[in-house]
Amino acid sequence: MGQFKVNKVNTRHTSRRPGHRPPPRQQEPRARHLRPPSVMLEKRGISVLTIVFALAVLAGASFGCTRPPASEAPNASGPAAPQATVTTGRPVPTSTTFPAVTSTGALPARSPGGQAVPPASGSTPSASTSTTAGPGLPATLPAGAPSLGVPILMYHFVDDTPPPAGPWSVGLTVATGMFRQQMDYLAGHGYHPVTLEDIYAAMAGERRLPDKPVALTFDDGNMDNFTKAFPILREHGFVATFFVITGFVGNKLSMTWDDLRTMQAAGMAIESHTYDHKNLRQVDPQTLQKELAGSRETILQQLGVAPLVLCYPNGKTDPQVIAAARAAGYLMAVTNLPGKGLDAVSRYDWPRVRVAPEDSLEGFVSGLS
Ligand SMILES: [Zn+2]
Repeated sequence: MGQFKVNKVNTRHTSRRPGHRPPPRQQEPRARHLRPPSVMLEKRGISVLTIVFALAVLAGASFGCTRPPASEAPNASGPAAPQATVTTGRPVPTSTTFPAVTSTGALPARSPGGQAVPPASGSTPSASTSTTAGPGLPATLPAGAPSLGVPILMYHFVDDTPPPAGPWSVGLTVATGMFRQQMDYLAGHGYHPVTLEDIYAAMAGERRLPDKPVALTFDDGNMDNFTKAFPILREHGFVATFFVITGFVGNKLSMTWDDLRTMQAAGMAIESHTYDHKNLRQVDPQTLQKELAGSRETILQQLGVAPLVLCYPNGKTDPQVIAAARAAGYLMAVTNLPGKGLDAVSRYDWPRVRVAPEDSLEGFVSGLS
């Protein structure tokens, strides 16, 4: 112990963003991680910005994840078909079976590209990188698993200018220069990026987290994650987690499977953000299965490693969705709820810290503590 903060009290927010106003139903496909300015300004009454925002929503804009037109999604009719060969030379399993949980509850070790994280019984944790490699993980966590105060930072786009994905990407694009400053700050102030699997393994008592752990997550699989963020992450020796929408992989705005293989080989974790980014609370059981198990299966087929973490589209979940996620094989899931307190009981509802485009470096730093 002593390698990370242990929260006796779960500081996770339980509010579902009071004041959140969903967009008109016909705009739902674009309503990604909506965070209307009216929430921040509600104490000041109706303002000009509120009116501007309302007009933007009516005009088709929102501040959520991108969703390209269906015609740009190459797999719009269903999950990607299994591929017999890949261009990177990495073998791709032809089986559609998920890695089996053993009788002891252990899951197979993960990415072949990373370095092992010291086990809990080890002496000194390694420095700036930890990865998805390591011993198998238990399918459940012990009752006495510690709560951890690890900020899970949430990014979407990282680019010099908002990409041509539509006006809704503007509110989700962190400028490349600011992203570099943020990573410089983490490196210069003793922070050590970890994966969510590392956090789970620490709760299970199987790994030790380094000092000042932080998790970097990127939603939606946008292309700039590979072209802009990934090189900066590598310069710093950082690991990060990328939540991809499997039905979007390879379209003109998104990373390709080869991009993802390259990042995986560099120790990055590739996890699921479903197949089609639907509101999981509103889909039928068959669709829910396709979004959760289907996307997990596709990632396994393409990358050779089954994801362990689910990112709910728009942060929307409920007990039925959580049960389906658990049944599909995910060990944990993240929401858009703000907070840093992570515990075993709520591991299918972990909060995150949104990194907003308008944040100054000081604002970014305040989100870490
Ligand atoms: Zn998303």
